Amino acid sequence: MSTTPTRQDFDHYMTPNYAPQQIIPVRGEGSRLWDQQGREYIDFAGGIAVNSLGHCHPVLVNALKEQGEKLWHLSNIYTNEPALKLARTLVERTFADKVYLCSSGGEANEAALKLARRYAVDHYGEQKDKIISFSQSFHGRTLFTVSVGGQPKYSQGFGPVPGGILHATFNDLESVRQLVGDDTCAIMVEPMQGEGGIIPATPEFLTGLRELCDKHNALLVFDEVQTGAGRTGELYAYKNYGITPDILTSAKSLGGGFPVGAMLTSDKVAKSLAFGTHGSTYGGNALGSAIALAAIEFIDTPEVLEGVKTRHDLFREHLETINRKHGVFKEIRGMGLLIGAQMSDAFEGRAKDILPLAIEEGLMALIAGPNVLRMAPSLVIPEADIAEGMARLERAIERLVANA
Ligand SMILES: *Cc1c(COP(=O)(O)O)cnc(C)c1O
Repeated sequence: MSTTPTRQDFDHYMTPNYAPQQIIPVRGEGSRLWDQQGREYIDFAGGIAVNSLGHCHPVLVNALKEQGEKLWHLSNIYTNEPALKLARTLVERTFADKVYLCSSGGEANEAALKLARRYAVDHYGEQKDKIISFSQSFHGRTLFTVSVGGQPKYSQGFGPVPGGILHATFNDLESVRQLVGDDTCAIMVEPMQGEGGIIPATPEFLTGLRELCDKHNALLVFDEVQTGAGRTGELYAYKNYGITPDILTSAKSLGGGFPVGAMLTSDKVAKSLAFGTHGSTYGGNALGSAIALAAIEFIDTPEVLEGVKTRHDLFREHLETINRKHGVFKEIRGMGLLIGAQMSDAFEGRAKDILPLAIEEGLMALIAGPNVLRMAPSLVIPEADIAEGMARLERAIERLVANA
C-alpha cells in the first residue's frame, strides 16, 4: 500500500463538499509553495485571506514552538496567559472593551448573533428579534450564519432555518429603511463584501446604517472575518471609515493559519453574554491565542500596515497593465490586500476558468463568485513575488483569451 496520499484519496475518503485542485501542496515558505512533485507556486490566495504573514513566517513559527512546549489547552474552566494577552491586545488596539475568543469566523458570527438577540431581550423584550443583513453577504456555514448570509444556495435544503432574518440590498440605504424598525435587534454587514464579489461599502452607506441602528436601538455588527487583522491596511476596516460598530467579528488573518476567531464588543453589550450563556471548548485555546497574539503584534505596526497599502497600489498597477493588453477586466477594486478584478462582458462568468490555468503557470489565486478574480495574499508578500506572480497571471490570461 502506498503511503503517499494522492488527490484520488480525496474522492475516496473525504465528504464531497469540496472540489480541490489536482495538485497537493506539501511545503510553504513566505508567498511560495511546493507540491508533491516539487513544482513551485506563488500564492496570491493566502489560504482565503488567512495566511496573513505567508507560510511559516518565523514570528508565527516561534510563537507556535514556544507555546507548544509550554501549554496547549486547558478549556475555559481555567484561563490562560496567551488568551488574556490576546484579549488585552485586541481591546487596547480597537473600540472594544471585551473579547470573546473562539476558533472560526462562523463561530464568531454565531456568538455575535446570539449576543445581539440576548441584548435585545435583556433591554427591550423578546419582540425585538429581527436581524437585517444583505443579499450576497457571507457570514459562515452554521445554520444561523447561512440563514443570515445573503446567498440562498447555502441554506437551501437545510430547513427549517432560524426565523426573524431579513435581507436588504448592500450599499442601498433605502432598502434598509424599508425593513428597519423598533423590532430590529441588529444589522450585520461586511464593511467590504468578500465572498459576494469584493465590494467595498460606501462611507455614506455605513454612516447611514450607524444612524439607523442608533435611531432604533439596534446593534451594528461588522463582520470583519475577511477584512480584519490588517487586510485592508488598517488593523480593522472600520478604522478606514471612522464608523464604530457595537460588535465586530474577526477570524481568518487573525490566526495567520491557526484556527482562531474573536468577537469584540463594548462593556454594555458584553454584559448580555452573562455567565453560562455561551461557550466553546477550544475558545481561547492557549496555543491558538499565542499565535494570534504574535500575528496581531507583528501586523499592527505602521510598517506592515503601510506596506499593505503600497502593495495594494502595486497589485492594481500590474492588473491594469495586464488589462490594457488583454481587456479581460471591467473593474479592479478592493482595499489593501483584498483585491477583486471583475471580468469584462466578453469574459462574463469566466473568472473560475483562470484558476486551473494559473495553477498550470505556477500561481494560486481565488475567485469571489463566477465573475470576480480575487487576490488575498500575504500582507508581507515580497515585491519580487508580486511581479513574478503577475507574470504568471498574465500567461494564464493570455491562454484564457486565446481559447475564448
Ligand atoms: C470566511 C468568512 C466567514 C466564515 O469564517 P469560517 O472561519 O469559515 O467559519 C464569515 N464571514 C466572512 C465575511 C468570511 O469571509
